Amino acid sequence: MQTALTKNLADVFERIRQSAKRAGRKSSEIKLVAVSKTHPAETLREAISAGANILGENKVQEAEGKITEIGRGAAEWHLIGHLQSNKARKAVQLFEVIHSVDSLELAERLERICLEEGRENLSVFVHVDLAGEATKAGIAENDLASLVEFLKECKCLKFDGLMILPPYSDNTEDARPYFISLREIRDNLASQNAFSNGTGELSMGMSHDFEIAIEEGATIVRVGTAIFGERVHRLTRISADKS
Ligand SMILES: *Cc1c(COP(=O)(O)O)cnc(C)c1O
Repeated sequence: MQTALTKNLADVFERIRQSAKRAGRKSSEIKLVAVSKTHPAETLREAISAGANILGENKVQEAEGKITEIGRGAAEWHLIGHLQSNKARKAVQLFEVIHSVDSLELAERLERICLEEGRENLSVFVHVDLAGEATKAGIAENDLASLVEFLKECKCLKFDGLMILPPYSDNTEDARPYFISLREIRDNLASQNAFSNGTGELSMGMSHDFEIAIEEGATIVRVGTAIFGERVHRLTRISADKS
């Protein structure tokens, strides 16, 4: 049976292929993180059996329940949301990749926890804030160098890439300059051998702008709504946001 989710996922894979082709890139260079936040475990299972092998969650606590139910080995689990320091140990235990490292303090804490937990390899991306959105997560470009210097010396944390979340705009083209800037920062860091994996991943692009991100060099796109449909915003979340 072809469900809506199966069809949406196939459509997203096809759009990734087409954008890669337009940009003269191989689609095998681009990974899809299916962003499953707010959706129940059964929906995630369906996505996994339809071929989504990387799942992205933005809250440690919510992810914990689902990962425990589905199994850590059933998919590659990525944390894409801001990580609070008191959730760092749980995150180390649950995730393969953390896209949202955005301070030296958080990196230091993650490295220390990895040593304590015997976690030899934790792939991390640095979330860069190029819009100067003071209230949002992400590290300012000016503070990036010292974080990178620390990551280079880490035994457990593997600095594998950069992530960006441009300010929301109805005009998807508004995101393009952010994607270009992030790629330039990545290229510059790669030329200084800053990345554990050599080239450095670029985690950029969401449902409304992943095709533009691919044109500008994204190697990982994070797509939720286009696969799972609109998220239901729960009351708990709304009241938490107000406080
Ligand atoms: C929710 C989220 C996404 C996916 O957003 P969609 O618009 O649903 O595709 C991507 N990245 C981050 C960091 C997110 O929090």
